[in-house]
Amino acid sequence: MSAHDGRFAPSPTGPLHLGSLRTALVAWLFARARGGRFLLRIEDLDPQRSRREFERSQIADLTVLGLDWDEPPVRQSERGHLYEQALASLERAGRLYPCFCTRAEIREAASAPHDEVAAGAIASGAGTERAYPGTCAHLSAAERRSRIGAGRPFALRVRAGGVRIEFDDRLLGRRAGVVDDFVVRRADGVPAYQLAVVVDDAAQDVGEVVRGNDLAASTPRQILLGRLLELPIPAYAHVPLVLGPDGARLAKRHGAATLADRREPPPATLALLAHSLGFARARASVETPGELLAAFDPDLLPREPSILGGPG
Ligand code: GLU
Repeated sequence: MSAHDGRFAPSPTGPLHLGSLRTALVAWLFARARGGRFLLRIEDLDPQRSRREFERSQIADLTVLGLDWDEPPVRQSERGHLYEQALASLERAGRLYPCFCTRAEIREAASAPHDEVAAGAIASGAGTERAYPGTCAHLSAAERRSRIGAGRPFALRVRAGGVRIEFDDRLLGRRAGVVDDFVVRRADGVPAYQLAVVVDDAAQDVGEVVRGNDLAASTPRQILLGRLLELPIPAYAHVPLVLGPDGARLAKRHGAATLADRREPPPATLALLAHSLGFARARASVETPGELLAAFDPDLLPREPSILGGPG
């Protein structure tokens, strides 16, 4: 593996909007500007929300913009055995426990007195969730058996021990977070994003994870998992988000948020994305992302959210 090998890992739950396309472009530039490999991974573990048609449209949009990758894309839904192995290894290390709490019970329970994590919601691949207050961590073995015997559904959580993890983010600087006991296998049996992303980044030899900064708060959890599984820990660069003209996170309602909505040809969208990434001299149209490689300098990337959207 090279430290510069990168990836883009979309969830096929809708069309890619400009913010995701921009993250894909940055991740591609980070890898390609330094001779790294670039991979595409389809994070389709959630059977309810993932659709093949979105996978196809996401790949088509990335291709139209001129992004490329070195190996055929992999789908997480076809890699269950890797996540099972990781769960078995955590189980052997005594790090897992079943959690019977419902979402409502977790919301109602008081937050543990942890700092950064407990102070707010934690971003995850599937939205945001509160720090887990530890309710099921101390159930007796008999209590666990009786609940499992009664057919109560349960998730598996990792025993994090309230550890505080620090890391250096290429764009955000030094970051820290206290890790709660987070879910690694959902109650419906689906491996959690946090587990799968760590297993896959290591299995695919990703040296640097470049992604949207809504996932920066999840990174301490992922680093902890990497350590527990004795996997190499990648470098991280979290890219500021794209907001709509009203300052809210870019969404459908802002209009022209996806490639299909935009009336302009793809090179004009590429130029728009390049401008928002600080390529001040990008022309009104950029034919291929390769044109941006020579001028790409991570130190010049914006550190603040960018406003995009509106009529295309
Ligand atoms: N699949 C995640 C998402 O689309 C991204 C995961 C990652 O880049 O680590 O939000």
